[in-house]
Amino acid sequence: KLYNLVQDLKGNIRVYCRVRPFLPGEPTALSTVEHIEEGTITIRVPSKYGKEGHKPFMFNKVFGPSATQEEVFSDMQPLVRSVLDGYNVCIFAYGQTGSGKTFTMTGPKELTEESLGVNYRALADLFLLSDQRKDTTSYEISVQMLEIYNEQVRDLLATDGQPKRLEIRNNSQNGINVPEASLMPVSTTDDVIQLMDLGQMNRAVSSTAMNDRSSRSHSCVTVHVQGRDLTSGTILHGSMHLVDLAGSERVDKSEVTGDRLKEAQHINKSLSALGDVISSLSQKTSHVPYRNSKLTQLLQDSLGGSAKTLMFVHISPEADTLGEAISTLKFAERVG
Ligand code: ADP
Ligand code: MG
Repeated sequence: KLYNLVQDLKGNIRVYCRVRPFLPGEPTALSTVEHIEEGTITIRVPSKYGKEGHKPFMFNKVFGPSATQEEVFSDMQPLVRSVLDGYNVCIFAYGQTGSGKTFTMTGPKELTEESLGVNYRALADLFLLSDQRKDTTSYEISVQMLEIYNEQVRDLLATDGQPKRLEIRNNSQNGINVPEASLMPVSTTDDVIQLMDLGQMNRAVSSTAMNDRSSRSHSCVTVHVQGRDLTSGTILHGSMHLVDLAGSERVDKSEVTGDRLKEAQHINKSLSALGDVISSLSQKTSHVPYRNSKLTQLLQDSLGGSAKTLMFVHISPEADTLGEAISTLKFAERVG
């Protein structure tokens, strides 16, 4: 209860930033990041971007290159746990391709216990907490996994080969927005690992023609929670959307054509729609433009009202990605 009070005082929209370390082989002489201190990240701005100097950006939290997966998750833990109290939560990983979004949400390619990302840790923590509460509340936890590619929604947990295209339904009573998508009950970490593997396999299958489609689609793991109070019989629903967004890099329209251009336009449209929705929520404007993309339609019930949102932006330290880093930080500034 105290956790929730603290959350509520902080407001419903938080913006975090993470800077990944240099990878083997990357030139480390110059970093985009000059300095990190508590909630502020200071970017080095060379003269070719206008006036030379340093530009600070403020966040609710900044994680530097040495932050571990455990540190990152433990900061998000109260937010995750509030799902069991009936809150709706959205966590977004935003940033250019290669900035570390998937690392934060899922982990690196070769997973170890230490490198497990937010998705695994969040579910493991919900199992733990629901077990601690089992004398008073009985919880059922289930998972959906969707992909949005070119404004089409697909079920990543389909077991019959080709994932099918699905419709988003509005205001369904049980809060499930894509009723035709597979909804899998989970109760152990092994269940979760199996489902994530299936989802990742389905994602890979569809990327035969274009390599690494994963960076050009949004993937959304949705955790549905139903809790029944064992004394009163009262039922509560909570949900959590864990979203690994498509890469935010701007594509040079003079250089791409056809499918690649179409993809870029869809990504651009949906990321700006998301930015518009969150910034209008944080400014408390009366009209929130949910209808402008599939992503914001899908998450409509979980953005705004009492729902909690975490926009987690990612920055790469390589000096030659500075332009993208600055545009990511500006996006973060706009929604915060
Ligand atoms: P994105 O999903 O944004 O395209 P990735 O998560 O795939 O980026 O990260 C790009 C590469 O950097 C991967 O090889 C990943 O394992 C590595 N990486 C990202 N973040 C970190 C980190 N915090 N610590 C170590 N390696 C990281
Ligand atoms: Mg990725």
